Amino acid sequence: MVARNYIGGEWVEGAETFRNLNPSDLDDVIGEYAQADVAQVEEAIEAARHAFRQWSRTPGTQRGEVLHQAATEIIARKDALGYLLAREEGKTLSEGVAEVARAGQIFRFFAGEAVRNTGETVESLRPATDISISREPLGVVGLITPWNFPIAIPAWKIAPALAYGNTVVFKPAELVPASAWALTDILVRAGLPAGVLNLTMGRGGVVGRHLAASPKIDALSFTGSTQTGRQVLRATAENGVRCQLEMGGKNALVILDDANLSLAVDCAVQGAFGSAGQRCTASSRLIVTSRIHDRFVEEMLKRTEALRVGHALNKESDMGPVVSAQALEAIAGHCEKAIGEGASLSTGGKRLTRDTEGYYFAPTLFTSTKPDMKINQEEVFGPVATVIEVGSYEEALAVSNDTPYGLCAGIVTDSLARAADFRRNAEVGVVTINAPTAGLDFHVPFGGRKISNYGPREQGRYAREFYTAVKTVYQFSDITPQA
Ligand code: ADP
Repeated sequence: MVARNYIGGEWVEGAETFRNLNPSDLDDVIGEYAQADVAQVEEAIEAARHAFRQWSRTPGTQRGEVLHQAATEIIARKDALGYLLAREEGKTLSEGVAEVARAGQIFRFFAGEAVRNTGETVESLRPATDISISREPLGVVGLITPWNFPIAIPAWKIAPALAYGNTVVFKPAELVPASAWALTDILVRAGLPAGVLNLTMGRGGVVGRHLAASPKIDALSFTGSTQTGRQVLRATAENGVRCQLEMGGKNALVILDDANLSLAVDCAVQGAFGSAGQRCTASSRLIVTSRIHDRFVEEMLKRTEALRVGHALNKESDMGPVVSAQALEAIAGHCEKAIGEGASLSTGGKRLTRDTEGYYFAPTLFTSTKPDMKINQEEVFGPVATVIEVGSYEEALAVSNDTPYGLCAGIVTDSLARAADFRRNAEVGVVTINAPTAGLDFHVPFGGRKISNYGPREQGRYAREFYTAVKTVYQFSDITPQA
């Protein structure tokens, strides 16, 4: 049985199929998934265009009701959905379940926001004139998502898109069709009219490329690599289509001499190796001042080597495999380059074998690294962290800002003054103080600066900025009797 795409209210076969394998165990076939072709992308856009007229005029209460219903089912089934997610993506079961719960919370949040799409009225410069400022849906929104958060990222794009009255063509990452299919199925059964949400699973270079280049969409939101994001930006710019990009990170965690050592190590281990480091928010650079450096490295090494890497569905595993053979090869390549540049490999740096054949890579720590090494400038997207020793807080801040990326940055310190200075001067979209850089809340904005981001923020009420258009209306109404 092939899991099908969903276009114009029908489950339809694709032009090809994709075999979805478990990265923890390549003998475990999760299923066959339809792959759309360019013609089906066109049909999906047409269907979304057609459905927009009715959906955009449906009261927010009704739209919110559908999202609420979906949220309830997602939360009720979080264990089964989390299992599926961990099975196809390779994050641990507890991480998978937590991600599903978060997706449910996101739908619940936007179910409420659907009835809070308020505007303003403003006095005019002219007599007897009222000005109202309101927000309207845009039309058809294309959504392209990555594999590393197979349900949360689709949720934080689909929920606001639908809440504010847009219709959607959803193109999930090739490697995680099962979570995307399950989410679509839930939303459809929650009562979305035909054409409001269309699922076009398939290849990035075919489905994603065609969607991004279509002049028939009104907006495109993308999360993925910086390289693909740039292509998407060029394609949408060609047609003047509104575009939002969330891309990579090379995030710093600064650890100062006065830090609580065990808190610093907790933040570093979680930040660097959570989800096998395959998060755009991963703390991949640990910038440590001299007096705490040796103690930090010693503890960090102990904790890194104690991590149990194994099958994602085994409850004993602290870290699962990486997502694919290609990812494994890329990560190993980054490690080799780092060694070539003179970084010291303190632990890891190699593939691991387990009882089942999967893409296991050892949690890796490089020490004695310099800020300008490639390993400190390029995103690895795997369980690899580096330590950079610095002499002062000022140097730590400068090194923290010294990459083309600007997603998030953290600091561990007991100094209120330095924490405040860091908060003000870190060139990023998210700062964490004495807290890990990942595992962020669903109701507040998320996004970066520099090459990590393009366009307005995602999530929380800030999502409205992207998913709605502002309209300013002048109304003259003078019923005063003429003298
Ligand atoms: P990764 O390398 O981590 O898979 P990508 O940026 O390639 O990250 O993928 C993110 C999403 O973009 C996926 O859904 C992928 O299929 C899609 N994609 C890949 N290539 C293109 C492209 N040329 N145009 C539009 N989308 C693409």
